[in-house]
Amino acid sequence: MTATGAVWRNWGRTEQVRPVRVERPASAEAVQRAVLAAAAAGLAIKPVGAGHSFTGIAVAPGVQLDLDDVSGVVDADVAAGRVTLGAGTRLHRLPELLAPYGLALQNMGDIDRQSIAGATSTGTHGTGIGFGGLATQIVSAKLVTGTGELITVSETERPELLPAVRLGLGALGVLVELELQLAPRFVLHAEERPEPLTEVLACWEQRVRGADHFEFYWFPHTEVAMTKTNTRLPGDAPRHPLGKVSRWLDDELLANGVYRGVCALGTAAPGVIPFFARQVEKLQGSRDFADFSPSVFVTNRTVRFREMEYAIPLAAVPEALAEVRALIERKGWRISFPVEVRAAAADDNWLSTAYGRESGYIAVHRYFREDQREYFAAVEDIMRAHDGRPHWGKMHTQDASSLRELYPRFDDFLAVRDELDPERRFRNPYLDRVLGA
Ligand SMILES: Cc1cc2nc3c(=O)[nH]c(=O)nc-3n(C[C@H](O)[C@H](O)[C@H](O)COP(=O)(O)OP(=O)(O)OC[C@H]3O[C@@H](n4cnc5c(N)ncnc54)[C@H](O)[C@@H]3O)c2cc1C
Repeated sequence: MTATGAVWRNWGRTEQVRPVRVERPASAEAVQRAVLAAAAAGLAIKPVGAGHSFTGIAVAPGVQLDLDDVSGVVDADVAAGRVTLGAGTRLHRLPELLAPYGLALQNMGDIDRQSIAGATSTGTHGTGIGFGGLATQIVSAKLVTGTGELITVSETERPELLPAVRLGLGALGVLVELELQLAPRFVLHAEERPEPLTEVLACWEQRVRGADHFEFYWFPHTEVAMTKTNTRLPGDAPRHPLGKVSRWLDDELLANGVYRGVCALGTAAPGVIPFFARQVEKLQGSRDFADFSPSVFVTNRTVRFREMEYAIPLAAVPEALAEVRALIERKGWRISFPVEVRAAAADDNWLSTAYGRESGYIAVHRYFREDQREYFAAVEDIMRAHDGRPHWGKMHTQDASSLRELYPRFDDFLAVRDELDPERRFRNPYLDRVLGA
């Protein structure tokens, strides 16, 4: 299907573009034809997932490829725990698609709206020091290169390309299939409680290492960290899910509803934010529940925001967060969104924010109608002083020259790009900035 482009906007309303045309291929061959046709017309071409990146990484001024029809289970090897998915498959469809095989993603981030290729291509991650980001689960990939060739990269076919292709920023080709190493379906026991921030920071590494999945949210203008500790249990462990009312109350009313009020009020009268932050602190009680992993990992995000997230060495988190806290106090800013703090294992994907080091993640958010620039820029300075690597899908200001210093295999990645996309068919302004033209 081909259509002239309407205006496309990303979720965070930070980017928009009117592509020359939109194509919706339903097979690898159709993707090949689309790449060759774009080349003949002298146009760039770019697949878009769910548009949930806050950066311009998915902006497609030339041909925008919508891969919603390249989705679903292509193949499954239940004994090995491996499933091949169409690259456009949305994460929220996975519980249903994987149920017949009794399998699940090893780990997930906060939401499940993304496509599997979009999520892995930007280094999407959850929390848990024993677990890498989603891209670490890829064992093989089929992609269409910039010259229209369909290639397979796997443990046996061109394995040297895997560390680049697993997390390729959409710069190496159009992924059409991804084979994932999954886990047997499992239950997570979730414990969520408010705790004093200073105590959580004092034993940060212990907390991270003592749990399967540990994270916390700190509400600026309060002393409170809402901690979340998830423990993995077998798939047949007893479940006691959150009731519908409790989930609605906590996720919708408190996390989103109160926030919407705070955010809307906050833009008119920023002075009310510390008061509301303390009310949220009082309202957010403890929760204890157990359910299949996707229902525990994933929450609803109905309030639109903008986000910047940096990966820093795990041990640097307490110091960096204390600096962010001091910054907010010094500047007198009124920040209505919590700061999210997570952790992940080191991995070997060349452009992974956790490449070669155990990582702590610090994410700052701002309501989408507020100007985030001053806050994000100042937090970015703190993170850069800790050798921070920015999430590829979240706002940052770094470019190829500074990123090269952060990634020891940066030039090896560029060499793979030269090979797979010699004419820069997949370029866009963001990739020009972070990788060079
Ligand atoms: C509310 C919200 C919550 C979030 N939570 C988290 C979180 O918990 N953890 C985290 O790490 N991130 C999180 N993110 C960021 C998000 O996971 C990433 O930005 C992710 O890339 C979005 O996936 P997408 O499908 O929307 O991809 P898009 O933003 O549409 O695209 C991202 C990139 O992938 C490329 N791409 C898409 N499909 C293909 C393909 N078939 N072949 C090659 N390249 C392709 C695009 O060209 C682009 O370069 C969150 C974002 C939002 C808005």
